[in-house]
Amino acid sequence: MCGIVGYVGRAEAPRALLQGLRRLEYRGYDSAGIATLNGAGIAVRKSVGRIADLERLVAEKPIHGHTGICHTRWATHGAVTQENAHPHFDQSGRLAIVHNGVIENYLDLRAALEEEGHVFRSQTDTEVLAHLVGREFDRQPAHTKGALVEALRTALGQVIGTYGIAMIHQDVPGVLIGARRGSPLVLGIGKGENLLASDAAAMVSHTRDVVYLKDYELAALDADGFQITTLQGDGAGYEISQVEYTEKDVSKGDYPHYMLKEIFEQSGTVRDAMRGRLVLDEATAKLGGLEMSNAELRDVERVVITGCGTALHAGMVGEYMIETLAHIPVECEFASELRYRNLPLPKDTLVFAISQSGETADTLAALRESQRKGHRTLGICNNVGSTIARESDGGVYMHAGPEIGVAATKSFTSQLVVQALIALLLGRLTHLSHSEGLNIIRELDKLPDKVAKALELNDEIARIARKYAQAKVMLFMGRQFNYPIALEGALKVKETSYIAASAHPSAELKHGVIALIDEATPSVFIAPRDAVFEKNLSNIEEVKARKGPVIAIGTEGDDHLGHVADDVILVPEAPDFLTPILTVLPLQLLAYHIAVELGRDVDKPRNLAKSVTVE
Ligand code: GLU
Repeated sequence: MCGIVGYVGRAEAPRALLQGLRRLEYRGYDSAGIATLNGAGIAVRKSVGRIADLERLVAEKPIHGHTGICHTRWATHGAVTQENAHPHFDQSGRLAIVHNGVIENYLDLRAALEEEGHVFRSQTDTEVLAHLVGREFDRQPAHTKGALVEALRTALGQVIGTYGIAMIHQDVPGVLIGARRGSPLVLGIGKGENLLASDAAAMVSHTRDVVYLKDYELAALDADGFQITTLQGDGAGYEISQVEYTEKDVSKGDYPHYMLKEIFEQSGTVRDAMRGRLVLDEATAKLGGLEMSNAELRDVERVVITGCGTALHAGMVGEYMIETLAHIPVECEFASELRYRNLPLPKDTLVFAISQSGETADTLAALRESQRKGHRTLGICNNVGSTIARESDGGVYMHAGPEIGVAATKSFTSQLVVQALIALLLGRLTHLSHSEGLNIIRELDKLPDKVAKALELNDEIARIARKYAQAKVMLFMGRQFNYPIALEGALKVKETSYIAASAHPSAELKHGVIALIDEATPSVFIAPRDAVFEKNLSNIEEVKARKGPVIAIGTEGDDHLGHVADDVILVPEAPDFLTPILTVLPLQLLAYHIAVELGRDVDKPRNLAKSVTVE
């Protein structure tokens, strides 16, 4: 949550900063601000609203300089106002800071600083940090780069909480300072310029050589180099990584929204999630990143899958997949619950932490808690070098490319493919035969084409969306593998359209939900031709008997649904455990088109931010 960018180099900093910030808008967008060292002091512009508002302000009242910082906010402390927008200044007004995270002891620190005569202009926790660093800097004998790093180090020693920081000081021109604990921060190495950002996407126009900073690391950058040290004051080793994607991958291309672009990328991303991972000879999957021997995998007694939001829904499908293919008991739990729960688990429990960004605060905490209890953990992430990817004992990358639309789409199907591969691998180590394994591989291999075929339904789905867009309430129903898909369909509609949507196992209808059915309440049934198709069909009849409109997602060739449902969307057939990868596609498109019809801000829904790095 919240995006920060810092630039130091020879080019005009505001241009680089705003371009980077636009790429981070998915992280927060209630207000934004920018500050540069302009030779005379610090120039600053802040505005409430989107980054476009800040850009307009900077165009009207330009600022200049070759060193600067900027921020797009997702407020945690203090209302969404211009005063609370970052950057924040210290008491002297000579230091500016942008911050992602939460300073938990800010009230105590603020009270102590006020005692000393400090005056605060905002309600944020971040301003306290600015004052603290500024005070430490002013106590230093000389105003050098080293002194600024030292001041930050001393200040951070007093802080409880999480932070990704970028900072400038007018007494130390041409220098950009950063630090991280619990919030991501990436250092970009350019030619005659260096950058800091919450996500490498912000800097791919400048460089693809990056260092993923670790917790408790501080970085000092100038145009020609950088130093990384630890909070203890030691030099820190680092590794330079290459960002996999290019500038083109983070632009919208010809699509009106990132969400639509990312939905349409899924034929490719589903392929990328399995690329090089299917082994025909052995009829299994190869996942090098797991870091587990076959013997260790065979010993897994129980699997716990955790995540938040869409990632948890993917995990719920994974639960069915692993139980079906590998016969290992699986428990799926919200990361925010798991982290505080005292779940008695056998020693040989394997914990999967699913997170697109790899930075989700609750998922990270659940992962750490599991490790504390001695369980082996596995990260399923998209962002290479992210905290969850680094801290888990092993992992599988999704390789879905940057996902910028706040509503997750392609990461979901990639998470499903990765879990299907894990289920295949575990199954083949125990009871699945070679020919069963081979059949699964053949079916996986056919998926990308089937995904492309399902997406051809786009126009038809847009028509259906227009028909139902005015609904106040929508219900989503599915069974078994497709119950989590009902949850995901409802979540997509809620987050992009703000329509109250709930999801239920179809048979639960009779136990309460049916009271909601009336002519104005559409029900979406996910009813592919699977083992529970007939059961779903009866549930649809129950809704129709009460005059509820029904949209049914079924399997190509089906001729039953057309007789009972008002609108039918048919996707290619697949084995039961792979149907979710196809049935979710029309639901993503349905949510997208309803949101467009209602004039919603599809890529940046209100109150939401991607990559939730606060608890
Ligand atoms: N806690 C800071 C604020 O409320 C930063 C929040 C964020 O990470 O977006 O301004």
